[in-house]
Order: sequence, then C-alpha cells, then structure tokens
Amino acid sequence: MPAKTTKKTSTSNAKEKITKTKIDFGKKILFASSEAVPFIKTGGLADVAGALPKALVDGGVDCRVILPLYADIKQELKDKMSYIGNVYVNLAWRYQYCGLFKAEIDGVTYYLIDNEYYFKRSGLYGYYDDGERFAFFAKAVLASIKLMGDFKPDIIHSNDWQTALIPVFLDVFFRGDDLYKEIKTVFTIHNIEFQGRYSGFMSGDVLGLPDWAREYVDFDGDVNYMKGGIERANKVTTVSQTYAQEILNSYFGFGMNNILVNRQFKLSGIINGIDVEANDPKTDKYAYQNYDLATFELKAENKLALQKDLSLPVDKNIPMIGMVGRLTHQKGLDLLSPIITKILDMGVQLVILGTGDYRYEEMLRGCQSRYPNNLRALITFSSELASKIYCASDMFLMPSKFEPCGLSQMIAMRYGSLPIVRETGGLKDTVIPYDYTTGKGTGFTFYSYNAHDLFNAVERAVGLYRDYKEDWQKIVNNAMTQDFSWRNIALRYVDLYKEL
Ligand code: ADP
Repeated sequence: MPAKTTKKTSTSNAKEKITKTKIDFGKKILFASSEAVPFIKTGGLADVAGALPKALVDGGVDCRVILPLYADIKQELKDKMSYIGNVYVNLAWRYQYCGLFKAEIDGVTYYLIDNEYYFKRSGLYGYYDDGERFAFFAKAVLASIKLMGDFKPDIIHSNDWQTALIPVFLDVFFRGDDLYKEIKTVFTIHNIEFQGRYSGFMSGDVLGLPDWAREYVDFDGDVNYMKGGIERANKVTTVSQTYAQEILNSYFGFGMNNILVNRQFKLSGIINGIDVEANDPKTDKYAYQNYDLATFELKAENKLALQKDLSLPVDKNIPMIGMVGRLTHQKGLDLLSPIITKILDMGVQLVILGTGDYRYEEMLRGCQSRYPNNLRALITFSSELASKIYCASDMFLMPSKFEPCGLSQMIAMRYGSLPIVRETGGLKDTVIPYDYTTGKGTGFTFYSYNAHDLFNAVERAVGLYRDYKEDWQKIVNNAMTQDFSWRNIALRYVDLYKEL
C-alpha cells in the first residue's frame, strides 16, 4: 500500500512558508554562464544557471544571468528580448562588436551578448575557435556592465571554463575603472574534466595578456582557462562537498589538483538542487499518467505505457531500470559494458536514453539486437523521453566514474525511481545507501570502480524489488520526500557571497 501523506502535507506547508520569506542580502550578482535554462541547454550547467538565480530572485536577491545569444535559441524567447546597446571589445589585436539584449522571464532578468561572428552558428561548442569565442564572451560580460544602467554588480559568479577568464580579465584590464574596483568574483567548477586548454600562443594573440599576467593561465606551456579562474577568483566552489575533496587528488583532478591544493583556502563544495517544479511527477506534462506519493500505484501506468511504446513485453511486474545521461566514460559506461548481459539475463528491462561516444552507442545497439525483450537503447536527446523514463522506471542506474554533482539521480528519486549509484562526488552526497536493519536509505550504492560491485548493487536492488515490496515502498517514501529544492541551496550561496 502506498504511504499516506497527511503528515507530509503539513510539513510541506511549513516549507512553503519558509520559501516565501525574503533572504537578507542586498548585494547584486551577475551570474555568467555559457548556457542557461530556459534559453539553451546541453547539460546540467544550464539547469543550475536557470534554477539558482531564480531561487535567489524569489528570495528577493537581485541576481541576473548573462549568456551568449546563440542562433539556436528559440525564436519565441528571442521575441522577448529588447536591445540595450553595444560596446566594442578588444581581444588582443581584434576589435569586436558586442551587442547587449535583455529579457525578463519568470521574474529573472537575462542579458544576452550578441556577436554574430562568434555565436550565430548551430550548436554551442565544438568549433575550432571555441577558445577565442569564450574568451570574447568573458571579456564581453565585463565590458557590457557599462551598458547595464542601474545594475552595478557587486559579485560576478562565473561557471566552468567558458567563463573562467572573467576574474582574470577583471584583474588585468578593468580594475582601474571605478565601476569595477570593488567587484568580487566566485568561480564554480561544474566539471573539472573540461578546462579550456589551448596552445600557449593564445595568451598573447587571443587573450592579449601582458607578460606579467600570463602566469595566471599558463599551464605546462599551454593556456588553461580554468586555471585562470581558480587563481584569480575570490572564492572557488564546486557542486558537491565530496567532489570538492576529490578534485584535490590526481585521480579526479585532471591536472588541476596541485593548483587546487594551493588554493584550498578558498575552495568549498555546495551541492546543486533541482527545479522541483519542472521535475514533478504530479505535473510533468510528458508523463503518461501523473502521480505523487499518495497515488504512487498510478506510477505503474507509466511503465505499461512505455513498455508498449517501446515494443517491450508489457507486464508491470518486470523490474524496469532507467538510465538517462551522456554516454561517456564519466557516466560509468566502462563498468556497465562488461556486465550488461548479466543484468539483462536477470529478466529486467533496461531503458537507456543518451548520446555520447560512438563505441558505447554501438555496444548498446549490438546488445539490444541480442536482447530485444530486455534492452532499449534510445540514442537521442529528448526531454520528453527522459520524463517518460523517470516516470516509468523502478530503478535508475548511474554508476559514474566521477560525478561532480549529478542531477539525474535527484530527479529519479523525486519520481520514485530508486537510484543505483557509485559512491562518488554528488552521488555520494545525495543518495543514502539503503540499510535493511534501520529501513533508512534512498537508493543502492557501491564504492569501488568495479563492474562486479556494480552488478552486486543491481542484484540487491532487483532482489528487494521482487521479494520485499513493503521494504521497497519504504525506500520509495524516503526518496520521494527528500528536499532537493534550490531554496535551501541558494541560502548556502548567500552565506558564501557574504564571506566576500
Ligand atoms: P551532466 O554531467 O551531463 O551535467 P547531470 O546529471 O548533472 O549530468 O545532468 C544531466 C541533465 O540532462 C539531467 O536533467 C538529465 O535528465 C538530462 N539529460 C541527459 N541526457 C539526456 C538525454 N539524452 N535526453 C534528455 N535529457 C537528458
């Protein structure tokens, strides 16, 4: 029987009240990101850039977002923008146009940097001149502050390598101007694997850095944007406490570990939240059948419908394991590959949605042809399919090799799909391993980067699902009542901003 929620309703009312109270913080924040929901998204960074500023604004903090004006942004959003003005930006010997547009969506002000040479292309990344494109963006963010009228940011919060040069450019080129004198900077690392590393000649020829400043970005003779952010920002954060510790170690640090060890005094970890309104099985527009904890039995309708749509055997008793994410080594595909057939031999249905490395896509396609009743590999990007999988699955697989934070496991818990995860980074900080002696826990975990340990965790989950329905329901209750909302997390960022 699904748990009743009388008690929970009063708790959520209490939470509701808390969320309405204003945050006591009068400083202005400019949040710079290369992608942000609702404008454009390729990964978790866009979710964070959409949700954190929104949570701050809801709390009464003046936080605004700035991102490039990509060609791929939907016309209906472009229609909401208005032109503010333009400046020209020097990038070494280049002299580039920088237009500034503004749009207000759902209470949040977004600024968009316009330069058709750099951003009127399809997609966001992957061009030969990405280094130049995002060096331009970083400088354009700073230059465009002059066009923002009353909004004079006290803090610029930049994110990942694409905006990591902002603290460097601020110190080297802008400090002399009164408008910029007092600005503080925060740099958040969402994934340390991607650092913006380019040939050393770019230091002068693209970034235009004087000799004395080149050491900020110099990394073994190359230019490394992320290093610049770490060196010059007043605070460096990453997206979970565990990952903040892990990246001090060479296994996780991708070469940045020693630099971070030196800068540990300003490094901290703050876990991400999820947009609990956009990710709610009760209102999800793509669900075949909406449900919540009180009506949990309706979740099974989603499984039956998805099985039908995917031409899998239709039976609500077959355990369904979902997986949504990039098909890369980060997401643990090398652990899954050697044991995937063993998992499928257990008679479960595994539905995987994602795109990524060709070798993994091919592995999954090959496996699907051998296990047509057990595996669906949906090699595409689709928010609709993602929702349907979260709604339909009983378990959610995320055996990441490393995971700065991870959003998918939190979404899965909210949808009552119990995560099976490796204890690393944000997965360790958000999934509580199920302990049958206490009944506590929100999912199933394993520690070593080892395929057999992953298999063992899947076996434990499937065994419990099949044979111990009451215990299963208890874990579902635990998972679905976790608070992953941004509100509390926004308060932790405010504490960090206050330290500045
Ligand atoms: P990442 O390392 O890619 O940022 P996260 O777990 O932090 O991983 O965030 C991934 C987000 O993107 C989640 O909201 C997930 O549902 C979504 N996502 C990933 N791959 C796909 C896909 N193929 N189709 C739809 N949504 C996807």
